[in-house]
Amino acid sequence: MNSPVVAPSRAATVDDAGRVDQAMRGFLAEIGSGAALAMEACVHCGRCAEACHFYVQTGDPRYTPIHKIAPLRQAYQREVGPFAFAYRLFGLTPRVTAGQLATWQDLIYDSCNMCGRCSLICPMGIDIAGLVEQARHGMFDAGLAPADYLGVLAEKEHATGSPFGLTRAQFRDMLHQVGRTHDVVMHVDEPRADIVPTVSSVDLKTYPASMAAIAKILNHMGAAWTFRTDGFDADNASLTAGDRAGQRAITLSIVRAAMECGAGTVVMPECGHSFTEMRWEAANTFGRSLPFRVLQITELLAEGLADGRIRVNRVAQTATYHDACQLSRRGGATAAPRVVLHALGIDVREMADSGDTGWCCGGGGGVALIKRAQALRAHAFEIKRRQVEATGADTMYTSCSGCRQTLDHGGKSVNWTTTVASLLELVAANLKD
Ligand code: SF4
Ligand code: SF4
Repeated sequence: MNSPVVAPSRAATVDDAGRVDQAMRGFLAEIGSGAALAMEACVHCGRCAEACHFYVQTGDPRYTPIHKIAPLRQAYQREVGPFAFAYRLFGLTPRVTAGQLATWQDLIYDSCNMCGRCSLICPMGIDIAGLVEQARHGMFDAGLAPADYLGVLAEKEHATGSPFGLTRAQFRDMLHQVGRTHDVVMHVDEPRADIVPTVSSVDLKTYPASMAAIAKILNHMGAAWTFRTDGFDADNASLTAGDRAGQRAITLSIVRAAMECGAGTVVMPECGHSFTEMRWEAANTFGRSLPFRVLQITELLAEGLADGRIRVNRVAQTATYHDACQLSRRGGATAAPRVVLHALGIDVREMADSGDTGWCCGGGGGVALIKRAQALRAHAFEIKRRQVEATGADTMYTSCSGCRQTLDHGGKSVNWTTTVASLLELVAANLKD
């Protein structure tokens, strides 16, 4: 079990009482009627526990999903619920302490990927993953996001628009360098374009070939497209950290960049949380309907294959596919990657749990950024390892570079022979001339 740590942060100068106060105000700001109803509806059936890889693999009751939102529940019962007065008067629900908040940091961040598997299975329809996201807002406000996150966000706050501090000029240089390396024409900051692709921080740091892949495919399609250096990094680490202001700033930078060049389509990269943010939340953040459609890259590929704008060679291979939770279960892009794999002629061997019920890689929701959560991630990977090996496939494709990185690390730790690869890069490597 991880040791809960009160992370140093922008709120480090605040004492324990101030930290508790900030967290409680953050929690209370989140408890709308939906969250309140959800917390009242739980019948304690325990089914969500069996859906959570952290509980299933460790047997630790602390990792029961509904237990992870205890801080929200406690704030609700004590401060705003219908019997709050009685709860306070008779001490039925004690005041939250700094020590509790520190413990909750481990539960709300380290041991929750916001994967939504528990939300899917709950008979009362309680979206625990959504409630965890809300709970993170209160924790972030109190300076209780893990230090790993705050380091990332501090860089971003230097007005670069990128969690890893990449400036517009650096991104422009990087794109041209990638174009030269992979011999592909890059379009950058074109004044007009139909399609604007975005990138993820993981691709920027670890898989830059993915940017060449998207460029190659869009050129093959004959599309009018451009990367925009004024809105490019879709990763949105702020979302998973609980930083609402940062989340909003990243989202709006992409919306405005796409509008600036009149794009009709914004393409989200191989990245899970960026997709759900842009598809489901961006219009709320923007305040009205988005003037463009949002496609995850696999959806663009499936669409292009269906209407003939993308033509591919067949690949003689046996493979399985890892569904990123935010793309399939929470995003709705479950069919598209299978359309792509079948168009390539790949012998697809599905895992025992796949599509909307697939298990998380263990790194989602920012858990991959938390160093001390490594042992928990290894537990989660064990489920995936067993299921992948049972398929007999020698390659596992995915459409999320965060999952790809987590699974790559997991595979190396067990000397795996299975290759973890990008579906986007597979298509780019097999375009017909
Ligand atoms: S599955 Fe739903 S109702 Fe059952 S314990 Fe979990 S949250 Fe409560
Ligand atoms: S969202 Fe996923 S990781 Fe978080 S509690 Fe639910 S099943 Fe577990």
